[in-house]
Amino acid sequence: MTSLTASLTTDPASDVSARFAVINPADGSVITEVADAGPADADAAVARARAAAPGWGARPARERSDILLRAFGLMMQRQEDLAALISRENGKARADARAEVAYAAEYFRWYAEEAVRVRGEQFDNPPGTSKVLVSHEPVGICVLVTPWNFPAAMATRKIGPALAVGCTAILKPAAETPLTALAIADILAEAGVPDGVLTVLPTSSAGPLVDRLLEHEDVRLLSFTGSTEVGRHLLERASRRVLRTAMELGGNAPFLVLADADLDAAVEGAMLAKMRNGGQACTAANRLYVHESVHDRFAEAMVARMGALRMGDAADAGVEVGPLVNDKSRRKVQELVDDAVHRGARILLGGTAPAGPGYFYPPTVLVDVPADARILHEEVFGPVAPIVRFTDEEAVIETANDTIHGLVAYLYTEDLRRGLALSARLQAGMIALNRGLVSDPAAPFGGVKQSGLGREGSTEGLHEYLETKYVATNW
Ligand code: NAP
Repeated sequence: MTSLTASLTTDPASDVSARFAVINPADGSVITEVADAGPADADAAVARARAAAPGWGARPARERSDILLRAFGLMMQRQEDLAALISRENGKARADARAEVAYAAEYFRWYAEEAVRVRGEQFDNPPGTSKVLVSHEPVGICVLVTPWNFPAAMATRKIGPALAVGCTAILKPAAETPLTALAIADILAEAGVPDGVLTVLPTSSAGPLVDRLLEHEDVRLLSFTGSTEVGRHLLERASRRVLRTAMELGGNAPFLVLADADLDAAVEGAMLAKMRNGGQACTAANRLYVHESVHDRFAEAMVARMGALRMGDAADAGVEVGPLVNDKSRRKVQELVDDAVHRGARILLGGTAPAGPGYFYPPTVLVDVPADARILHEEVFGPVAPIVRFTDEEAVIETANDTIHGLVAYLYTEDLRRGLALSARLQAGMIALNRGLVSDPAAPFGGVKQSGLGREGSTEGLHEYLETKYVATNW
């Protein structure tokens, strides 16, 4: 047990008996138990957030900024401990976990810098009869709901801007990964965030708890990261009280390798886009379309690279692929592989889950994947690379766009003019052009179509937490 899990002072109901177990996916063992928040805890958290709001909102932006900057520093000081905790409850390889901590901490630094740059405007209206004053105010109490796959970064990407502008917030982390969220709340408290400004509510009953939070009149915003299915449901819920919503939902990213691509760079990028977090990322390359002239060489290189990865318990520093988060995820990945093979795909690597313990699935490469295979239409969320050969560039853009999702698309070509022209035609909120990674706290992260609403990160992410107020006046 790390010192972090031993000091969970923000465990919201540590004096009540209801608790649930946090499982290590590497062996199915119980890491610890945490308090299981219910409706009464939701009410108490809203009351705390309400009480803390005036004071926090009135703090000078510079002070809120300094606190976030301290939290950034503390996260980086404890990067190794936090990475160990993430690896333990989520299963991700240590290098991935370390990278996540750095990425997550950057949201505190970025929003510490943004906190002091919230600006309004003043101008004369066109007839000159009124002066228009525009200012921005914190939206109110925010409910933040996050997934297990990036338990630190998905939390800080919401907490950072909310706290920067003076909102108070309640975070409901995924049931699989509450410990990382609690550790981050401890760090924020140590950095100077007052009591009640952020409450973390782990729960084994997400639906009832979040429903209860959203019933409170003071709650004004719901920011959700998770599956499109749960996002749709929460949008309906939020509509009842006309809440502000920010939705970061599922993806089905195409990864396109054109005939003129730098093949080594494309393989490098595919490894990153496919294997980061063992394929359990909304941005994961879900389906790889490779021009027929380079298809065989690309597939061969992917088999060599993916086959060389070391799979095992992320507690072992040399491990590059950890387990999937739970048995349900592993069964879904196996189902998608079996379906593809049943329809005619060929397995070049992997394809069968090893016997337990733990929820491991091996790096897998499939070729000749037919267009109707489920794996090309559903989020894989595992270390499986389905490769499809294409000949016609026009047709492959249409295929890439033929999905309800539109989070990210990857494109490799040495012709930058063509790359930018095709980027304009790809229906996605983010394009990775000759890169395997888009995530960047300074850039607007988010999707089009059913991949989401709004953006996180960048200055745009800050405005999700602000209301605009206009005063008409003369002087
Ligand atoms: P999920 O099942 O949708 O869960 C996400 C969060 O919602 C969890 O905290 C979950 O709690 C909670 N939840 C589940 N049902 C709920 C309900 N009825 N009411 C309120 N909250 C509810 O997604 P996941 O499996 O954790 O994460 C994977 C998904 O997230 C993938 O689709 C991935 O693409 C997406 N994702 C998107 C982004 C992005 O930025 N666009 C980033 C990361 C992940 P419990 O854990 O208790 O069920």
